[in-house]
Amino acid sequence: LKLGVPRETAKGERRVAIDPTVISKLTKLGVEVYVEQGAGESALIPDSQFKGAILVSNFEELCASSDIIWRVQAPTSDEVKMMREGTVLISNLMAHNNIAMLKSLQDKKITSYGMELIPRISRAQSMDVLSSQAAIAGYKAAIMGADIAPRFFPMLTTAAGTIRPSKVIVIGVGVAGLQAIATAKRLGAVVEAYDVRPETKEQIESLGAKAIELKISAVGKGGYARELSAEEREQQQQELATYIAQADVLITTAQVPGKPAPKIIPQSTVEGMKEGAVIIDLAAEGGGNCALTKPGETIKHGSVVIHGPLDVASQVPIHASEMFAKNLFNFTQLLIDESGNYVPNYEDEIVIGALLTKDGEVMHEGTVELLN
Ligand code: NAD
Repeated sequence: LKLGVPRETAKGERRVAIDPTVISKLTKLGVEVYVEQGAGESALIPDSQFKGAILVSNFEELCASSDIIWRVQAPTSDEVKMMREGTVLISNLMAHNNIAMLKSLQDKKITSYGMELIPRISRAQSMDVLSSQAAIAGYKAAIMGADIAPRFFPMLTTAAGTIRPSKVIVIGVGVAGLQAIATAKRLGAVVEAYDVRPETKEQIESLGAKAIELKISAVGKGGYARELSAEEREQQQQELATYIAQADVLITTAQVPGKPAPKIIPQSTVEGMKEGAVIIDLAAEGGGNCALTKPGETIKHGSVVIHGPLDVASQVPIHASEMFAKNLFNFTQLLIDESGNYVPNYEDEIVIGALLTKDGEVMHEGTVELLN
């Protein structure tokens, strides 16, 4: 079996879908690994570190050599056209945002697995790129907040007097939020956090932060939050505004699957914030939790800085690539036998859950509905 890893082509993408440690795991299974020259360049992994892999000079050559292709981000429709018929593609695919690519997958009879479609069950945790990359984003959000803020995070007792610690508020306590809390705590800030799922209280407190408790509870399917009604949203915004007025740094990470990011911070709340307060809106990719967020930009409203970073995991490319490649490897192990033959078990809920197309036929239910 031949597995190829190309250079990522999406704008601003610095990760690569392979890591030197994963190459040796693959070769032990009898898989031949092909890597496009320079694929690790932006992740600061030189070709010389891809020991055990065969380097090829361009994407066309890689496609000609590969039975399976691993990527971080979905290929373009033109890139799919360059793949051999029947290739197996394993990548983040987000097909609902890219119908042209999906059509190319159908035309080229590609079997594709979307890493973002893997069910969030315990057995799949080691394959879960949403979690591994969200943890990186949460960490980085706290660092960004500390960097932009005009105040220290920790309490400092100095000859020039005692400096009070910053207050960081985290809204949305999923994987990213928990890592943001832990990182802000390590940097010495006083941290408070809020989520609509009541079970997060215990998790927040176990990290040494204080849980903000409002009256709303909005538990949805599969351990996720549900969308709030207009009344609940209004109530939430009003109650949170009093807490947010005290924050030096506000980190927002709230998401509802399949919906735009919920708007939790209206303009009036921003206007009630402290001088020099900072908002890091990790939900910028889905439109932002703050009404004023401009995805991909840093803006100022009065003296409040609102930062809406995109593709944050890519800013920690070495570890993000390592974790992504390990997730890919753990998933791919479900598809191959001990001698490295491709033998997918479609009875396995993880395999079938991630399957987007099989020999070009769209298999994923949500995507089939989208096409009809
Ligand atoms: P996510 O990225 O979908 O959302 C981030 C957080 O935003 C969630 O905690 C959600 O409750 C919160 N949120 C949504 N709307 C909100 C609102 N209006 N106000 C405040 N907060 C709001 O979530 P995620 O990080 O992907 O994880 C969600 C859950 O799934 C967590 O319980 C997590 O532990 C669980 N999970 C399980 C597995 C697994 O078992 N394999 C893997 C990952 C996550």
